Amino acid sequence: MRIDILTLFPEMFPGPFSASIIKRAVDGGLVSLNIYNIRDYTHDKHHTVDDYAYGGGAGMILKPKPIFEAVESVKGEDTCSVILLTPQGRPFSQSVAQELSRHDRLILICGRYEGVDERIREHLVSDEISIGDYVLSGGELAAMVVVEAVVRLLPGVLGSEESLAEDSHTDGLLEYPQYTRPAVFRGWSVPEVLLSGNHAQIAKWRREKAIRRTKERRPELLDRVSLGKDS
Ligand code: SAM
Repeated sequence: MRIDILTLFPEMFPGPFSASIIKRAVDGGLVSLNIYNIRDYTHDKHHTVDDYAYGGGAGMILKPKPIFEAVESVKGEDTCSVILLTPQGRPFSQSVAQELSRHDRLILICGRYEGVDERIREHLVSDEISIGDYVLSGGELAAMVVVEAVVRLLPGVLGSEESLAEDSHTDGLLEYPQYTRPAVFRGWSVPEVLLSGNHAQIAKWRREKAIRRTKERRPELLDRVSLGKDS
């Protein structure tokens, strides 16, 4: 997979992209992550990317021309999803991450200031994604969230020690409680069943705990899950 990110702050990306699972995926050639500075697609000596809003109001708006030129140059003749990160987009979720992980190529546009000229939404992007109902100062952290969630789903990225199948939200449920050694810590014991070696009983216990935890914390998630007769 290839992911291209258009930003005014390319210096924000190397940190999160050069550690742990993302670094391993890049080093292993499973994903290519490319960062482009939108200012490189301006033609004036001040590299202007923003301007005042027509109609007045506080804050600056990202101009259409540099972003159109950046996307057109990076995309070339390919057809690929061009995604604007915006608090007005469709909510990001595990199922959206799964959907995006099936693409060969994505282009992510990070907004800044008061946002982007509406013609970018209307005539350039094919998708708009929000990472939550709050407002960040820029789309960079949102792009990192999307990349992190998508890349770990790509075939071969997670090693056998990391499991996707039972992660929270993968099957619509929150994950069951997890324990590691010691079996007793400060007097608090690990549930007996997990020490039993009885895999069927362990699987049943985990399923029950996942359902109970989801009911307690996120009951609205259960509307979308088929629980079968064990609910
Ligand atoms: N005035 C805009 C509005 O009300 O929709 C918000 C602009 S925000 C200060 C600047 C940029 O941060 C946005 O253009 C977007 O790229 C990014 N951003 C902010 N919150 C976001 C969110 N929840 N999800 C994705 N991107 C976000």
